Amino acid sequence: MKILRTRSEISAYTLQQKQQGKRIGFVPTMGALHQGHISLINLAKNKSDLVVCSIFVNPTQFNDPKDLEKYPRPIEHDIAQLEAVACDVLFLPEVEEMYSSDEKWELALDGLDEILEGKHRPGHYQGVTQIVFKLFQYTHPDIAFFGQKDYQQVQVIEKMVQKLKLAVALEMCPIIREADGLAMSSRNVHLSPTERVQSLALYQSLMHIKEGWGKKSIEILKQEATEFLEKSPGINVGYLEICAPNNLQNNHPATGSEAVALVAASLGQTRLIDNILLP
Ligand code: AMP
Repeated sequence: MKILRTRSEISAYTLQQKQQGKRIGFVPTMGALHQGHISLINLAKNKSDLVVCSIFVNPTQFNDPKDLEKYPRPIEHDIAQLEAVACDVLFLPEVEEMYSSDEKWELALDGLDEILEGKHRPGHYQGVTQIVFKLFQYTHPDIAFFGQKDYQQVQVIEKMVQKLKLAVALEMCPIIREADGLAMSSRNVHLSPTERVQSLALYQSLMHIKEGWGKKSIEILKQEATEFLEKSPGINVGYLEICAPNNLQNNHPATGSEAVALVAASLGQTRLIDNILLP
């Protein structure tokens, strides 16, 4: 696997490969790779000729400096995992390579960045679009792969691609879970053994909604799932919403129709998110 660390290197290499007719598949990550990330690399390998993965813990999307500081960075292990699945290129820049000190970024996202995760993490999606735009510029992807795990992020990136008329196709990839249902996340390493058991309540609350979908009203399902979460030991509920799949508004879907249920909750210092597509 080629490891490139500068904008000029990655840009020149991907452009040269494109000129040879190769389709570039791009998988942006913040590292601490798990099977969820690896599934994206494998999908990218199936759908493109050259797979570029980036690992960059993007400071502008963290609104809590402690969260940024304690974000796991097992880079040697990450590189070994990428090599094991034959990823072609790793883009591994330093912060100074990606940002100058006085940069401003503001993209109108029609309010998508202010609801759900955006409400709890002000500025988060501006930071996400800021870095993904830059990464797209330097890696020249034909297709970029994002996980459904961060459902709102996919919607936000799609909005950016539409607004800025970027020439990249997006692919949303399924959530990879542990055997007991917990969605894999780089943050799961912070869970204590007790919290790890308690964390299952997120998935269970979503499963409750899935089972009742089309049988009970949205209001009842939301209330039951929220009450279940609130009663679950160790869980501090951020939100549980059932929304229209495209604009994430929560006043549209009818029970039984297409929707997405999204949940966020904290266990101790660790904040987890999960979602399921309905029906
Ligand atoms: P992150 O490193 O957390 O920024 O994630 C990088 C990419 O991997 C994002 O597109 C995530 O949505 C995706 N991802 C994270 N966890 C999972 C998972 N459990 N299953 C599938 N994709 C995931």
